[in-house]
Amino acid sequence: MQKVIFLKYGELSTKKDNRNYFLKILNNNIKFVLKDSNIYYDYGRMFIETNNNNYDEIINKLQNIFGIHEIVLAYKSLERDINDIKNNLLEVINDKEFKTFKVEVKRSDKSYPIDGMELRKIFGSHILKNKDNIKVDVNNPDIVINVEIRLKEILIYFESIKGIGGYPVSSLGKGLLMLSGGIDSPVAGYLAMKRGIKLEAIYFESPPHTSENALNKVKELAQKLALYNHDIKLHIINFTEIQEAIYKNIPNDYLITIMRRMMYRISAIVASNSNAKVLVNGESIGQVASQTLTSMSAINEVVKIPIIRPVCCFDKLEIIDVAKKIGTYDISILPYEDCCTIFVPEHPVINPLKEKCHEYEELIDYEDMIYRAVKTRKIITLSNEYVSEYQDLL
Ligand code: ATP
Ligand code: MG
Repeated sequence: MQKVIFLKYGELSTKKDNRNYFLKILNNNIKFVLKDSNIYYDYGRMFIETNNNNYDEIINKLQNIFGIHEIVLAYKSLERDINDIKNNLLEVINDKEFKTFKVEVKRSDKSYPIDGMELRKIFGSHILKNKDNIKVDVNNPDIVINVEIRLKEILIYFESIKGIGGYPVSSLGKGLLMLSGGIDSPVAGYLAMKRGIKLEAIYFESPPHTSENALNKVKELAQKLALYNHDIKLHIINFTEIQEAIYKNIPNDYLITIMRRMMYRISAIVASNSNAKVLVNGESIGQVASQTLTSMSAINEVVKIPIIRPVCCFDKLEIIDVAKKIGTYDISILPYEDCCTIFVPEHPVINPLKEKCHEYEELIDYEDMIYRAVKTRKIITLSNEYVSEYQDLL
């Protein structure tokens, strides 16, 4: 029998009118990773045929694609006669070691002349008759033998492998991730991609106060995220002029609040240029002074674009668990200065007043500086395999 991989897409199969829209994007995303594959699908299953017989490698790749809930390696046959199916069943269990089993039948071809219950009995007793020392156990079997009677083909398979779930990346549009070198923002990016958001990223650096190492760390993080996103465009903003102006002119306790208002303003402009509909960041309620509800409100007021904060209700340890799972943790803990950690005041304001923010911002000519920062940004594209050349927008 021919081996074939098929996918179950869980939540997606519940979409009615726009199911095909989601499946088409999932199809494209898989094609991007498995270039020479042939893909076809119906409402419940997506089939992938490739010339590559290295199924472990294919399954590994599929496990990084959002929108896939289960991956199944199955045997496929076009022979639909009951005796052919019985013979094929014996063939595929021939080299399987088990003492107990159960048969599950899914009969999506409702015109097949024998019903599901009956088929289960026929297959079960045929296996019992032809293999020694085995018995049926419906509660806790060593293996489950699944038979699917479909319109065209018959599928036989054993277990399915868990996919990462979520929605296909791009199916919900684009977002701009504020990516620092920390632990939280890469996790926030991962979770946003899981809900189908295609990401671009923005990073604020303040050379010479922040180093090339800090930038390289962010590039590495972006590369990790690119695994799920095709590739990732990273906008690198030179934040030095703004940060120095803030440091010189703004009272110490409001440094961080004003700095973050500037970051939001710049991010909103870049998002709009890139047609990104939301900003995504790694803020988590209460984690630091700038992430109290009052702070978030004072910072948020400068932009209209919605802000998604996927880890806002996570504990740090929960964030770290995800960071370890996606391989960003070890990069994030490398000790390079971020522009948020230089010039940090000892006592940042915990409940900043919006009126004070307005008053202090009068002290700097921030609009021109923001314009220059956006205009002089560098954009690089990172994928899992390569980093493209700098592209200077000046
Ligand atoms: P992280 O661990 O992601 O650095 P954090 O707990 O250190 O987060 P902050 O430094 O207050 O928190 O930053 C909150 C969020 O603001 C970050 O998660 C990130 O989304 C964004 N951010 C902070 N610094 C930068 C930066 N230099 N470039 C881009 N985004 C940033
Ligand atoms: Mg940080």
